[in-house]
Amino acid sequence: MSRQLMVAGNWKMNKNLIEAFTLASEVISKAKKLSGAVEIVLAPPTPYLHTINSMTKDLSYVKVAAQNCHFEQNGAFTGEVSAEMLNSMQLAYVIIGHSERRKFFGEHNNILSRKVSAAINEGLKVIFCCGEPLDIREANTQQGFVQKQLEESLFHLSVEQMEKVVLAYEPVWAIGTGKTATPAQAQSMHYFLRNLIRAKYTDKLADNCTILYGGSCNPSNAASLFENVDVDGGLVGGASLQSDKFIQIVNALSN
Ligand code: PEP
Repeated sequence: MSRQLMVAGNWKMNKNLIEAFTLASEVISKAKKLSGAVEIVLAPPTPYLHTINSMTKDLSYVKVAAQNCHFEQNGAFTGEVSAEMLNSMQLAYVIIGHSERRKFFGEHNNILSRKVSAAINEGLKVIFCCGEPLDIREANTQQGFVQKQLEESLFHLSVEQMEKVVLAYEPVWAIGTGKTATPAQAQSMHYFLRNLIRAKYTDKLADNCTILYGGSCNPSNAASLFENVDVDGGLVGGASLQSDKFIQIVNALSN
């Protein structure tokens, strides 16, 4: 089994140019002291992608992700960025399906399916977010909800394409709320997700698929989340905006 451990920082719409440069510089210099066992992914706002990607070129285990892309290659889509453009900047990853994109920009499973295809066809790797809102968790129907998200947005991919996908389980009720899934809730859903992949694809793909947990992950709770066998790291929002906190989370996975 060669499952890549990963901690990705989603900066969302935060930081001006100087602040973004400072945060990236701090993370890169702290990452240089680490073993490299954990892949660190930085997802800054779109205008800073090229600069920050250039800053990471000496470190094989620090990569950059866009937070979104359009499903078309180019055209009259004012304000959008295409997967082709991201690829032309030699970015490694794009995040697709974040709950804030689903909620504020109406991105439903079918649109996300087209975005996933566009990204993979351009040679990008995808960090695909799934996760249930609070009412679904309270009704205990979260497995069916998340299964539908995967079936409608990912399961059109071939085995070779699916190998380019990192999953991020992000219960919507835990994102930016300070509420975290318990380690048992995270493990249970990650195990379920891995078995969905096993049933649809192959044992090898399921065993090698990196599945991140996201939702108020911080230096205090990271270790207890990451010690679960099916939790391969984290997608971190708020705590990724300070280099110390972010690196502590990376360390929680390395140890
Ligand atoms: C996220 O936005 O993906 C996220 C997990 O945010 P936070 O860590 O702030 O909950």
